[in-house]
Amino acid sequence: MHSAEIIALSDQYILPTYGRLPFCPVRGEGALLYDAEGREYLDFVAGLAVNALGHAHPAVTRAICEQAGQLMHVSNLYYIEPQARLAQVLVQNSCASKVFFCNSGAEANEAAIKLARKFGKQEGRHRYEIITARQSFHGRTLAAITATGQPKYQQGFEPLPEGFTYVPFNDLEALAAAISPRTCAIMLEPVQGEGGVYPADPHYLQGVRRLCDEKGLLLIFDEVQCGLGRTGRLFAYQHYGVEPDVLTLAKALGNGFPIGAMLAGPRAANVLQPGDHASTFGGNPLACRVALAVLEQLLDGGVVENAARVGAYFFQRLQQLPARYSFVRQVRGLGLMLGVELTREGRPVVEACRERGLLINCVGTHILRFVPPLIISQADVDRALEILEQVLSSLS
Ligand code: PLP
Repeated sequence: MHSAEIIALSDQYILPTYGRLPFCPVRGEGALLYDAEGREYLDFVAGLAVNALGHAHPAVTRAICEQAGQLMHVSNLYYIEPQARLAQVLVQNSCASKVFFCNSGAEANEAAIKLARKFGKQEGRHRYEIITARQSFHGRTLAAITATGQPKYQQGFEPLPEGFTYVPFNDLEALAAAISPRTCAIMLEPVQGEGGVYPADPHYLQGVRRLCDEKGLLLIFDEVQCGLGRTGRLFAYQHYGVEPDVLTLAKALGNGFPIGAMLAGPRAANVLQPGDHASTFGGNPLACRVALAVLEQLLDGGVVENAARVGAYFFQRLQQLPARYSFVRQVRGLGLMLGVELTREGRPVVEACRERGLLINCVGTHILRFVPPLIISQADVDRALEILEQVLSSLS
């Protein structure tokens, strides 16, 4: 099919929940995508921070083919070897002791919210409030949009579930003041993604951990976007010397195959009991086998180290932009999760980059986001910067 036909068919039959760009990728390889007409694009969106190993990674393809030919799904009525092995790898490489598997980031956060509420009911208490940050993003289910500290995701879907309180990010005093006798948990992204690429301040997260310990609250880190090597460490919390009680993951875990996970540390691991939570597809043999292949690459393939090294180079090059372009306001981020805030709308920049063969996206209206595959080379970063600078120069 040609791009025009794909677009027409989609517009006719797909609910219009997305404002899409007129671009139809049909094939990918590493950091490159090809559209229906065979044109090549350098992919610095990576399926929204999903394709950590790039497109069509041979180890992922092999895992899918082998497992699909062996056993795809059986339900959680039974014991599943790839699920058990994946949980073991996640636990052995994190601060967690047990894992719950699901299919997306929002589902992982739903599980965390339910766990926190059940935790709040322990010892006959009635605690159910979860404090989250303004500008946060936690997904699109009803509880996840309520946890999300941005009204634009909530409007029109009221009444929202009760029990969420919002505080400004990186403001420890405001957080301390928001804790009430009903608070059971604090939920944060160590690096806010959709809210504009804002890394937490180390003192902030350390202070939040202290507060949680003092008040007996669960600390939940949503690492759906910033986890699994994106920041140049396997988990973003490892930059901060702070361990959460609950950690949520999705996006890169399956490199594009849908899988999410909620990891629970010692204080949280025994809260949910048989019957408390479930997912038909969650942790099925195929999804887990794929995630095992992804983690093997992340842990042993030098991928995370590459993200740290190339991310530092990319950041340092981007930091030169504010001095050269008056409308570039600030460069932020960690590892290969980088944002460039403009004083003007970002969408024309995104579109002009795409016309020149570079895919980036915009968070909010003014922030360009760069989340390339973690296997990206320095040469690809140079190529992306060349295109970006051509576009920025044309706007000056
Ligand atoms: N949490 C964070 C930090 C995210 O960035 C996202 C998606 O962008 C989600 C949760 C929701 O994940 P999903 O779209 O897989 O439900």
